[in-house]
Amino acid sequence: MTHKVVLTVDLDRDYPIESMGKMSAHSAVSQDTDLDPEIRGTMAGTSLVLDYLSKLKIPCIFFIEASVLKKMGETELVERLLPYEIGSHGVSHEDFTGELSGYIPTSDEITTTLKTSIQIISKFLKTPRGFRAPFLNVDSRVMKRVENLFEYDSSVTIKQIQSYSNVSIDKEFDWINIPELFLSTTNDKRDKPISGYLWQLFEGSRTEEDYLFMLDRCFRINKLTYTTLAFHPWHLSINTKERRYLTKQEVHNNFRKLYNLLDKVQSSFEFVGVEDILSL
Ligand SMILES: [Zn+2]
Repeated sequence: MTHKVVLTVDLDRDYPIESMGKMSAHSAVSQDTDLDPEIRGTMAGTSLVLDYLSKLKIPCIFFIEASVLKKMGETELVERLLPYEIGSHGVSHEDFTGELSGYIPTSDEITTTLKTSIQIISKFLKTPRGFRAPFLNVDSRVMKRVENLFEYDSSVTIKQIQSYSNVSIDKEFDWINIPELFLSTTNDKRDKPISGYLWQLFEGSRTEEDYLFMLDRCFRINKLTYTTLAFHPWHLSINTKERRYLTKQEVHNNFRKLYNLLDKVQSSFEFVGVEDILSL
């Protein structure tokens, strides 16, 4: 049996962090505003990633922050996103549960924001079918609105469902009433938690071998029927600890790490699209 891996990209502003007391986020590396996000790292990273994906014909889901897409406007970069599966990642990277910002939005604010994200993404690209919550912050109240507006969700990690062993991916969570593309989490060689987000690959605290081990373990030990990998295009260009843009050489090194990993994943596993996993 080939093991299926879904590659996902959170296409958001350059290193978004929560704004205290408000729903929308801002960039940690620049002075930007809700509707005028800083995207130079995202633009550069997305271009590199799209070159690579199209060359190797790897399917991918882009969960897009609508204000980022609006700022990109009618550019060639946006056109190159058209062949891919598209989801929403909010308008201005909202913290929908208020867990980080301390601001708990009303149900109307949640609905209006989700609808606005759909309008903007539909106008500049195409109708988003899925949703991934910024900061992965969802609860039953947010999910209720999400399930009315989207065909599937991808904001919930395996870790949130069960402990690490013998997870059945088909097990339904009683507060999720639409198909869920779960984000993979498991333990590493030293039995420490690891997720399919590639933050630590770019930050240098994990290697490609750690992620290959993680995928293998998800299938072999956790018996998952698929796994997910996720990353942010801006992460190729930004060091989050030092909150600075990287040099050309450093960006090149990060891109090399990414494609070395994806090349190896492609030779041992099979990259598939969302419709191979969920019945939509
Ligand atoms: Zn995000």
